[in-house]
Amino acid sequence: MQSRINQAGLDGVPEVLTRFQRIVGVGRIKGPVLAEGRQPLYYWEATSRPDLARVVDRIGPWLCPVKRAEFERTLGRPLPAQVWPGSMSEELAWAGGFFDGEGSTCLDKHRTHEGFFAPVIYVPQAAEIGTAPELLRFRNAVGVGNVSGIRRPKPPHKPYRRLRVYTLQKVQLALHLLWPFVGDVKRTQAQRVMQVMHSQPDLPRGNPAFGVAGARYCLRGHDKWNARVRPFKGRGKNEQDPMNHMRQCLACLREDAQERRNNKRRP
Ligand SMILES: [Zn+2]
Repeated sequence: MQSRINQAGLDGVPEVLTRFQRIVGVGRIKGPVLAEGRQPLYYWEATSRPDLARVVDRIGPWLCPVKRAEFERTLGRPLPAQVWPGSMSEELAWAGGFFDGEGSTCLDKHRTHEGFFAPVIYVPQAAEIGTAPELLRFRNAVGVGNVSGIRRPKPPHKPYRRLRVYTLQKVQLALHLLWPFVGDVKRTQAQRVMQVMHSQPDLPRGNPAFGVAGARYCLRGHDKWNARVRPFKGRGKNEQDPMNHMRQCLACLREDAQERRNNKRRP
């Protein structure tokens, strides 16, 4: 009978493990396990029935379905009833703990501006089918983030999806909400990212070559508002943003299509 949490760490025993051990009050931390090309691996483990029962008493009601099922199989009895989603602070506390173990804050190269960076919160999670419930729960708790499509790495690695939070405002919001519940390692990491973000000048939104966002006249001078021949008919997505169909200049679209047809005709 065994319960185990792995965590890699370059600076000795990872704080996540010591915090977890303090909270559940049982188990031992072991490691490092050293392997070529890998970070030193530490782990917390509990190996007796009383210890596992103790863990379940402490955190069972807040666990996600996968871990619940594992504990129920191992202990051969049902867990205390699930109590989440409860209060906002409880869900954020869970999300902070999950983030401490699985998440990170990092810098992406800016898509269009060389030498600039963009902040990203990144939380991967494996699931054989569908999306790991942990990612959906995390998303619900912090209220921001997108879950990517499935990635299938080579075995023995499992298929996984990535939750990512983009844009400075959303990253700051997520960090603000998680802050009370994450440890020093993830805090320091996030602070470094934010230092870079706040030391680079704000970039103007949009690409100047596309003209002013929402302008009535396009760069070639067409009147976008009156370029439509037949009334616009949305196909669902437009309900969230009813003016979306006005962004593109229909007159330009027609001119470009005409030109492509003309080019094709010429041998
Ligand atoms: Zn135009």
